[in-house]
Amino acid sequence: MSEKYSLNIVHLYPDLLNLYGDKGNIECMRKRLLWRGIDVNVIECTNQSPEIDFENADIIFVGGGSDREQEIVCNKLLKKKAELCAYAEDNGVIVAVCGGYQLLGKYYKTEKTEIEGLGILDIYTDSIPNAPRLIGNIVLESEITAQKIVGFENHGGRTVIGSHKPLGKVIYGKGNNGESGYEGVVYKNVIGTYLHGPIFPKNPQLCDYVLTNALKRRYKAFEGLTTLDDELENTANDYIVDRFTK
Ligand code: GLN
Repeated sequence: MSEKYSLNIVHLYPDLLNLYGDKGNIECMRKRLLWRGIDVNVIECTNQSPEIDFENADIIFVGGGSDREQEIVCNKLLKKKAELCAYAEDNGVIVAVCGGYQLLGKYYKTEKTEIEGLGILDIYTDSIPNAPRLIGNIVLESEITAQKIVGFENHGGRTVIGSHKPLGKVIYGKGNNGESGYEGVVYKNVIGTYLHGPIFPKNPQLCDYVLTNALKRRYKAFEGLTTLDDELENTANDYIVDRFTK
């Protein structure tokens, strides 16, 4: 009999970082695993949790939020900085959105303060006084998916990714800092991105990329995900791409 697969998804601070429904990405990962007969266990680590427990994590997800909430989360996560860095270096899967993405870097400088980051990525984020927020729909071309990646961004911070590989080239929208023409970062199995809310439901191939990485890391014999009927998701994705790029 073939092995029964199962993944643990750790959702960091859904009570603090859940702008535009970033939480929907957890539901998307869960469903896309269950539809394939793969078990999934979601562990929420909230502001009330006594410990950040990611010892058995296969995927760590962290969403976006306001600067205030970001600072609370960062102070908590800094206590586990070494473990989180080691997890990322060991090909652990992390998906971090907006505020969460900024936390993966060296620092996030706001107009009032500097928030120390986890240093998992060699990137940094600055807020430029009086500069407009980077808000709106966004479309990317990415090396990791055949399908274009579509989403919505809303950030004041400008992120510089240095020599890291971006998640994608901006075809429409602003991206990491409104100037470089690139969005997000991919480092080992870590993805940082400004694309908020339902990035996975809107981009099924990106969701499957993340699930595949987690399954490959956990199960050496894993041969790949079965295909799902994504006709609706793909139609929605195509519609957004056409709307903003044609
Ligand atoms: N506070 C960060 C910024 O504005 C992130 C906000 C967010 O998560 N949307 O740059």
